[in-house]
Amino acid sequence: MQYDLHNHSYFSDGELSPEELVVFAKQQGVDVLALTDHDSVAGIARAQAEAQLQQLRFIAGVEISTLWMLKDIHIIGLSIDPQQPELLAGLQLQQAKREQRAQQIGERLEKIGIKNALAGARALAGSTTLTRPHFARYMVAEGYVKDMKTAFSRYLGHGKPASVRTEWASIAEAVQWIHAAGGQAVLAHPARYKLARTKFIKLLECFVAAGGDAMEVVTGSHSAQETQAMAEYCQKYQLLASIGSDFHGHTIGYCRLGRLPKLPAECKEVWTKW
Ligand code: AMP
Ligand code: MN
Ligand code: MN
Ligand code: MN
Repeated sequence: MQYDLHNHSYFSDGELSPEELVVFAKQQGVDVLALTDHDSVAGIARAQAEAQLQQLRFIAGVEISTLWMLKDIHIIGLSIDPQQPELLAGLQLQQAKREQRAQQIGERLEKIGIKNALAGARALAGSTTLTRPHFARYMVAEGYVKDMKTAFSRYLGHGKPASVRTEWASIAEAVQWIHAAGGQAVLAHPARYKLARTKFIKLLECFVAAGGDAMEVVTGSHSAQETQAMAEYCQKYQLLASIGSDFHGHTIGYCRLGRLPKLPAECKEVWTKW
C-alpha cells in the first residue's frame, strides 16, 4: 500500500484543486491520500467526494502553524473530524493571525518599493488561506524577482525585510485541537527546521509532553540520512511514524507526490490506529 499523508491544494498554497490532487494521486499509484492544507479544512469535502469516485482511500487532514522558541513549527493533524467545533475555532484564530500578518507583510514590502503586494497576494489567494507563497507568486508575476525561491531568500524568509513574526498557536494548543477532532498529531518535516541536536531534542520533548503522536520520518525534503536519523528518534521517543510528500503542485518541484521511499522497517506506522 502506498501512503501519502501530507499534500496541499489551492485551498492553501498548493496549485491544484482538491479534485485534481486526488486524480493525480491516483495516477501516481497512491492508495491512501491525506489533504493537509495550511490552517484550513475547506478543501476536504471536495477531495473526499473525488476520492470516492476514484476509489482511493482518503484521510482528512490539516497542517497547523505553531510558534515554538521563535520558530515556525508545523503540526499535521491526520484522520480528523473536519467539522469539530474546537478545531474549527482554532483554525479561525489562525486565519485571523494570517490576515494581520499579511497586512504587515504588505506594508513592509510597500516601504521597500514593492507596490500593491497585499492586494496582489489576496487576489491570488481568493477566499482560501493567505500564505507567503501568494506574496511570492505576486512578486514573480510582477517581475520583482525571478522565482519564488528568490522572493523568500530576499524578502519573505526568516530575518528578511518582509518577515513578520507571528504568534501562531502553541504546539500544545495545536495538538489539543487535533485530539479534540479525534485525530493524530504529527510533527511535520522535522529535519527541515535545521535545529542543532540539543534544540531538536527540546522540540521533541515539548511535542511529546503536549501529547503528540507521530512524526514524519519520510517526507519529500528529507535525505536518506535524515530519514534514518528520524526513524531513530521515533524509536527513542516512542512516536509513530508518518510518510508524506508535502506536494504543492507541478511547478513547485521540491516535493513529488507518490514517489516516496518506504518507511524504515523498525518504524510503527501512524495508520495502525485507523
Ligand atoms: P506561510 O505558512 O504562509 O508562512 O507559508 C509557508 C509556506 O511557504 C511553506 O509551507 C512552503 O510551502 C513555502 N515556502 C517556505 N519557504 C520557501 C522557499 N524558500 N521557497 C518557496 N516556498 C517556500
Ligand atoms: Mn506550503
Ligand atoms: Mn510545512
Ligand atoms: Mn506542507
